[in-house]
Amino acid sequence: MIQSLLVRVMKEHIKCLIIGSGPAGYSAAIYAARAGLMPVVYEGIQPGGQLTITTEIENFPGYPQGVSGNVMMDELKIQAQRFGSEVRSGCVTKANLGIYPFLFTVDDLIEIEADSVIIATGASARYLGLPSEERYKGQGVSACATCDGFFYRGKDVAVVGGGDTACEEALYLAGLCKKVYMIVRRDVLRASSAMQERVMRCANIEIVWECTTQELLGDEHGLTGVRLLHRNGSKLDIPVFGFFLAIGHHPNSELFSPWVNINKDGYILTEGKSSKTNVSGVFAAGDVQDPYYRQAITAAGSGCMAALDAERFLSEILSKK
Ligand code: FAD
Ligand code: NAP
Repeated sequence: MIQSLLVRVMKEHIKCLIIGSGPAGYSAAIYAARAGLMPVVYEGIQPGGQLTITTEIENFPGYPQGVSGNVMMDELKIQAQRFGSEVRSGCVTKANLGIYPFLFTVDDLIEIEADSVIIATGASARYLGLPSEERYKGQGVSACATCDGFFYRGKDVAVVGGGDTACEEALYLAGLCKKVYMIVRRDVLRASSAMQERVMRCANIEIVWECTTQELLGDEHGLTGVRLLHRNGSKLDIPVFGFFLAIGHHPNSELFSPWVNINKDGYILTEGKSSKTNVSGVFAAGDVQDPYYRQAITAAGSGCMAALDAERFLSEILSKK
């Protein structure tokens, strides 16, 4: 009773709702605020997005010496706020894009109506799906080396994956741990050549080629090792205390997929070179709609596009009234 009263009291109307506070969300907010759309940004469970779990960003233009992921995201937030974006903590937990204005619930409590929405919910780390992985989550299994690497100082650890993230995680862990095994399922890395070179030059990283993880081994204190299966059928146990997942991400589109078209992997489909989804007034930016590039700079660029598309949509609606 009290809760439903609160919900009614707290329902508000927003011109432009931005869901997500990564490079896409904040870039959209900068443009939308400067266009007078008074955007409201909900940060979600990872304020600042994926870059807050990495160390140094070296490829974002404008930072010739590189920049820490957290510093860069703080600066983007300040820049968005400077032009009047309202940044709020909270997660959008429900969406209804089948009515207009669109309806959203934040943290299962606050109801919001929005004239336009920019989905910038990014992507989340993938897990292998082994039961033993679940068992040792937080007791040796992690998807974030910069968050949890500290706990494995001086110990042996493994990183699974062969992309840029896996290389970055391995290099970070190599600075803390005795030895880092990179478990790679093919005989090549997917990572960029610059990243591959850094890994190859690192003395305490060993790549275990053509192996998949069969099982994680452990006891009541946590992880003690990993059982690998080589492509030739042989099995191999490696003693490690930390197991870091770096096998890619899945797009956070589930909340919107009843209305918005997605591809077979869950990425939101946008029209041509725009950020428009199949629902008029709903735009998508960043990793949630990008299976190809998935970089901070491309996410920021698509955030800009989404704000410009939202501005045009809203002015068309106003001109029809
Ligand atoms: P994200 O950064 O994923 O942000 C998504 C946001 O949405 C988060 O704030 C989250 O809390 C929010 N959210 C999700 N669901 C909800 C919800 N229901 N309600 C409210 N908010 C929600 N790229 C580079 O260019 N250079 C690099 O050096 C680099 N290093 C990387 C290192 C690592 C370890 C990783 C994992 C990625 C790296 N990338 C790098 C890729 C880069 O981080 C991403 O391409 C970029 O962050 C995508 O931005 P985004 O705004 O689309 O989404
Ligand atoms: P990714 O490029 O998709 O690489 C995923 C890696 O995990 C691949 O090597 C893949 O193997 C492997 N993999 C996937 N599923 C697996 C499974 N079930 N078991 C074992 N291995 C598995 O993902 P990412 O490395 O997270 O990178 C995502 C994006 O962010 C990329 O565009 C990347 O360039 C960007 N990024 C950039 C930087 C940087 O510029 N410094 C840093 C991090 C990330 P296969 O190769 O065999 O498919």
